[in-house]
Amino acid sequence: MAPTPHGGKSASFLRSPRSTEAPEGGGRILFTPAALRRWVADRGEPPYRCQQILSWVYARRAKSFSCMTDLPRGLRAALERDFFLLAPQRVEVQRSWDGTRKLLLAFPDGAAVESVLIPDAPRLTLCLSSQVGCGMGCAFCATARLGLRRNLHGAEILAQVLVALEHLDPGERLTNVVFMGMGEPLANYDSLLQAIEVLLAEWGFGLSGRRVTVSTVGLLPQMRRLVSETPVQLAVSLTGTSEEQRAQLMPISRRYPLRELLDTCRSLPLPQRRRITFEYVLLAGVNDSMGDAERLATLLRGLRAKVNLIPWNPFPGVEFRRPTEAAVRAFQERLLSRGLLATVRRSRGRDVQAACGQLALSRPAGASKEAQV
Ligand code: SAH
Repeated sequence: MAPTPHGGKSASFLRSPRSTEAPEGGGRILFTPAALRRWVADRGEPPYRCQQILSWVYARRAKSFSCMTDLPRGLRAALERDFFLLAPQRVEVQRSWDGTRKLLLAFPDGAAVESVLIPDAPRLTLCLSSQVGCGMGCAFCATARLGLRRNLHGAEILAQVLVALEHLDPGERLTNVVFMGMGEPLANYDSLLQAIEVLLAEWGFGLSGRRVTVSTVGLLPQMRRLVSETPVQLAVSLTGTSEEQRAQLMPISRRYPLRELLDTCRSLPLPQRRRITFEYVLLAGVNDSMGDAERLATLLRGLRAKVNLIPWNPFPGVEFRRPTEAAVRAFQERLLSRGLLATVRRSRGRDVQAACGQLALSRPAGASKEAQV
């Protein structure tokens, strides 16, 4: 089906033409709790109005101001004057045979990001992007190829949730959110925090902190802040077992060496019974030897850790290879035998380039585009 640029349905979030937070390029800012709080305070309205309006926007996904019937008429009129429902924007959906849906969202300034809905009964996980492209330069990641184009605003992150909710299958309910799409979430900390506030709020998406995971290459100052300021789950991409090996694969390791990263992880004030997930992308012949498994187990000794092994997902133009299933299992078993919790991440949506590290705004020929918003 040929894509039509705009359908009739408008996404149910707002943008303010008057905000001082205009994104680079002169586009209009979308609606965040912070922007609304300022607006409500400036008008001398009682603060509880914020919660009321936010609940209409996020929890109840109102499509217009006129339906916000518990607000005084004058306030509705003022909202109508100062904010707009977001104009329809382009959304493309690609559905994998396994039910995974990759959503491409184009913003008014032309920037685009991808998010992925991953059904895995009884869970339904939404994988969100935090930046357009990424500046971390990991050698094995397709998004790194784009470089960092720009940060997403908090409301642009939330827009991904609202759009995803419009693409649930009958009976589906969103249970988990992971920041494992495009970008390094901790390099866009303020927007990340705005999005987390709405994800967790009663008046927002009402998720528990255990069901929201932020994955990072290991930006140490922001990791400390995240753990002290929010109850979300932390995942750290490790992928190397020596300083040299990790620095070759993940340039951030030159700024924050492996040793410092692990020391920081040891000192984080984690909530009770919480563990840090360590993601480890398995690259055949590079970091998947039994020696690597041994070193990894030694590095994580004494940490409240679990390891999530991710067999590398290929994309064109790089030399890496995906390890065989037997090699993955052998690596996992070695970790288990050393007493570590270790799981293997099943790749989902590989046929539509929706798996980890494949998000690069590509559209493989022949992939079916299922819907437009
Ligand atoms: N910037 C964050 C989150 C995005 S990537 C981070 O790096 O943690 C989410 C996970 O996918 C990371 O663990 C990353 O190392 C991994 N990844 C990147 N490219 C991959 C690929 N081609 N195959 C498998 N995993 C990949």
